[in-house]
Amino acid sequence: EDKLKESEEKYRNIFETANDILVLLDKFGKIIDINGKVTDIGGYKPEELIGKDFKSFTNIMSLDSIAKITHNLIQGLIGLEIPTCEIEMFKKSGEMAFMEASAMVVRKEKEIVGFLAILRDITERKKSVNELNQQKELVEQIIATTPNSVIVIDNKMRMILANPAFYRTFDLTKAEVSKKKSLDNIIPVESFKNALQTILSGDKTELELEFTFNHDNIYRIFVSSIFNMQYNRYLIILHDVAEERARQERLYLTDRLASVGEMASGIAHELNNPLTSIIGLSELLADEHLPQDAKTDINAIHREALRAAAVVRNFLVFARKHQPKRELLQVNKVIQDIVDLRSREHKINNIKVFRNYDNQLPEIMGDYFQLQQVFLNIILNAEYAIADSKHRGNLDIRTNQNDNYIEIIIEDDGPGIKKENLGKVFDPFFTTKEVGKGTGLGLSICYGIISSHSGRIYVESEENKGARFIIKLPIKPSPETT
Ligand code: ADP
Repeated sequence: EDKLKESEEKYRNIFETANDILVLLDKFGKIIDINGKVTDIGGYKPEELIGKDFKSFTNIMSLDSIAKITHNLIQGLIGLEIPTCEIEMFKKSGEMAFMEASAMVVRKEKEIVGFLAILRDITERKKSVNELNQQKELVEQIIATTPNSVIVIDNKMRMILANPAFYRTFDLTKAEVSKKKSLDNIIPVESFKNALQTILSGDKTELELEFTFNHDNIYRIFVSSIFNMQYNRYLIILHDVAEERARQERLYLTDRLASVGEMASGIAHELNNPLTSIIGLSELLADEHLPQDAKTDINAIHREALRAAAVVRNFLVFARKHQPKRELLQVNKVIQDIVDLRSREHKINNIKVFRNYDNQLPEIMGDYFQLQQVFLNIILNAEYAIADSKHRGNLDIRTNQNDNYIEIIIEDDGPGIKKENLGKVFDPFFTTKEVGKGTGLGLSICYGIISSHSGRIYVESEENKGARFIIKLPIKPSPETT
């Protein structure tokens, strides 16, 4: 009897000190015994539960959990293995606990008399798995949405992973990437390959490199960061800075133009007064009774003074002293006014003008006078280029609408622009015209005006193949420029 007592005490001890909830059930599901862990975990006292059928615990477990356990115990009754399942327990405090439930049958002389169930609290584990999964998803989302190309390769430069930005940037499909196999085949740039090699060989764990890459006629400047990660994996991040650089350059140019503009406006104001006197006095003198050759000279003085005044006016436009206006205007009309103005010269110089205006062009907000100035400058340049190189030529003027901007193309078949000058034609004071014929300010004025309209102006040209000036003006300019 003592021995029996001792053994019972031993088992009770094990039963009570277990880390999990241990439940002894009869074969119908009635609770015979349950350890004190149920109080620690769920707040229930064993006495509240003992003698009750677990299927009646609808306020302690979810219906789904009761169904799962019932199903599993039946498996045991028919001699199959009882699977482990996950159940939800409502604590007395109202909180939910996730439990992992396993069970085994209890036999007495081979006959099944009940079950021993073990319920392990996995709430914390589940929480950390969930947190880990959330974090993983977050990282995946960041990689998927970043505009930078993110690539992982192995130690043979084979692609292991690439994000959508990579496929977009290099215009590749997954099939094409697996065909090309290694990253140095996709980006065959020597300096980049060498940098990869440096990291792969273990000489360095981190490297940054800038390289240019021309793909499908798109010029890109990549700042690449290469990292050695664990397990023979290497991370590469490519940041395309071409746009940013172009923007910086444009900003720099605008800034330079602005300072030249300020200087020009000072000079222009100083010159305005003496010029007004020269123009007025020469006009008065021309009316006097003077010998004919003196009159011819005075007329020449008058004409040249007018020309100088026009240059001064240009300076002032350039310096934006003329308060820019914003009114609704039809670009086709602005251009046509200029074409009409120059039609006599075109006839004299054998220049044939082809017009191809988009009649559906919407009106835009702009400064009529300034835009006229732009078209006049470009057309005068084209006329000069044609007249200077040959005796006849064509001037092609087109307008059209493209998404949210309108495009104006003015093209001539003159001598074109030499490659080395292509980047300079918008610079103030750059001119290839002989002294006295050009100020080198025309196109920089155009540049300033188009920029202030939130537009873009650029030129495409090859030597002996004419020049094409392209202007893009937004249909709805950004608010700060209106
Ligand atoms: P300017 O006309 O006073 O020289 P611009 O700024 O208007 O000043 O033009 C700068 C230079 O750009 C010109 O001197 C010429 O070399 C070049 N250029 C402009 N338009 C054309 C064109 N249509 N064909 C060839 N060269 C051109």
